[in-house]
Amino acid sequence: MRINLISDTVTVPTPQMLKAMFEANVGDDVFKKDESVNHLERKVAEMFGKEAALFFPSGTMANQTAIKLHTNPGDQVICDKDAHIYNYEGGGVSFNSGVSCKLIDGHRGMFTAAQAKAAINPPDFYHSPLTALIALENTANRGGGACWDFSEIEKIHTVARENDLGFHLDGARLWNALVEKGETPEQYGKLFDTISVCLSKGLGCPVGSVLIADEETIHKALRIRKILGGGMRQAGYLAAAGTYALDHHMKRLAEDHDKAKEIGKTLEQLTFIKNVEPIDTNIIIFYLQDDIDEQGFLSKLEALGIDLIGMGSGKLRIVTHLDYTTKMHQEFLKVIQNVL
Ligand SMILES: *Cc1c(COP(=O)(O)O)cnc(C)c1O
Repeated sequence: MRINLISDTVTVPTPQMLKAMFEANVGDDVFKKDESVNHLERKVAEMFGKEAALFFPSGTMANQTAIKLHTNPGDQVICDKDAHIYNYEGGGVSFNSGVSCKLIDGHRGMFTAAQAKAAINPPDFYHSPLTALIALENTANRGGGACWDFSEIEKIHTVARENDLGFHLDGARLWNALVEKGETPEQYGKLFDTISVCLSKGLGCPVGSVLIADEETIHKALRIRKILGGGMRQAGYLAAAGTYALDHHMKRLAEDHDKAKEIGKTLEQLTFIKNVEPIDTNIIIFYLQDDIDEQGFLSKLEALGIDLIGMGSGKLRIVTHLDYTTKMHQEFLKVIQNVL
């Protein structure tokens, strides 16, 4: 039994999900003739109380499309220093949109309305890049799956509106936040101009993300997706997995959160671990004591059938997910206590 905790993207479709995929009605989605894709897009748009949505092969492409929609070359995007769009999208903000990021030194990947406001360049000061967009990430990945305080998001929304800025949510793991905080997609749909969500993380799909916005924005997004090479043909096989996951895999995210919190409690008691960051959802970030070799530790676990990942600067990460069973959980808790 291998226990893979490197990410919640490692899941494979369940037999029931595969069945839904096999039975999908498909067509050519580049001509918008794929029933299953159209169904998923309508479903997600409705969930968020927005006019429209667009299916994407990846969250990165959905985010990059949103950034392109909100900016012109030379503009600046405000985001946290730990943001996925800044750290993990291959420099796409500059490659695709010709923009730079103004990084906020936030806490666990999250920042305040006051910090957002202070990061805006005065629009008539032509020496500085023109601020065009504020981008948030919920849950915050490098922040250890941290959930935002919704009232702070409302305040940042006000800052964005008062300064005529776009407002984008990287909601790759928004589902986890919704389940954990008892929030609704509509709450987010009301505040953000554009929202990207991943189907391929906690929801357990093999592929897929969705960008949600108003009709006009999604119409423009269609062209950008095409330019980025993201127009897919019989994508309904993938979209059907998404529809299945939204119907069947949402509530169970709470189980991933419970397991993550149990792991955290165990890690806190181990003397070779220096610190465990607070655990809000399905991501656990922890640090080994300084005298313990990170690579050696990871190799030892690997030999015992457990895969974890280093995030750099001594940060280690564990992510619980759909394919991490209760049996694996018991085994992992046993192994980690005796590894050194
Ligand atoms: C995973 C992730 C994405 C998108 O990643 P893809 O692998 O391109 O689907 C975007 N933002 C965050 C915060 C993520 O964790």
